[in-house]
Amino acid sequence: MARQNPNIVITGTPGVGKTTHAEQLARNLGFVYVSVNQIVKDEGFHEGRDEELGSWVVDEDKLLDYLEASGISEKGGHVLDWHACELFPERWIDLVIVLRCDSTILYDRLTARGYKGKKLEENMDSEIMQVLLDEARESYKEEIVVELQSSSDEEVEGNVERVEKWVEQWKKDNEAKGGE
Ligand code: ADP
Repeated sequence: MARQNPNIVITGTPGVGKTTHAEQLARNLGFVYVSVNQIVKDEGFHEGRDEELGSWVVDEDKLLDYLEASGISEKGGHVLDWHACELFPERWIDLVIVLRCDSTILYDRLTARGYKGKKLEENMDSEIMQVLLDEARESYKEEIVVELQSSSDEEVEGNVERVEKWVEQWKKDNEAKGGE
């Protein structure tokens, strides 16, 4: 059975505004907010922490089994918040938002979070080299990957509105197709 609501991935370098966007979108749309980081941590779907990078070494099979069991694929209506996207099966995902941020602003956000040394450097490089955007473009069809700027509060507002309109259209198109 086709899902009634789309599944959306919000991705990007740490600090670009994934959680800010994903929580707001889920709230406005009545969708389920999925903090992949929280699930990995709470359910122990990892093989420890990469202390240098400050992120979990994720057990992807366990994570995907857990998400599959939650019905994400059939039900839809999930907003996934994670600093990677290639692991999610293409058939689950209807839209991939890659958030981008001005590097001076990102630097300030990450240092405010206590990032320093290699962890700060690697994440700054990742943003400047658009690593997440390339990963998204390599993993999903071009037409479902959207790059949005997230340097200011106004941009958050505009982005959320834009995605809400996209969801409305997705539903209309889906209904027109007869939910095939
Ligand atoms: P991520 O989930 O990508 O790590 P967060 O949503 O936690 O990023 O945002 C990191 C910090 O930057 C937070 O303090 C948040 O309020 C701020 N922030 C994020 N996006 C914006 C934006 N577009 N304009 C202003 N502040 C932002």
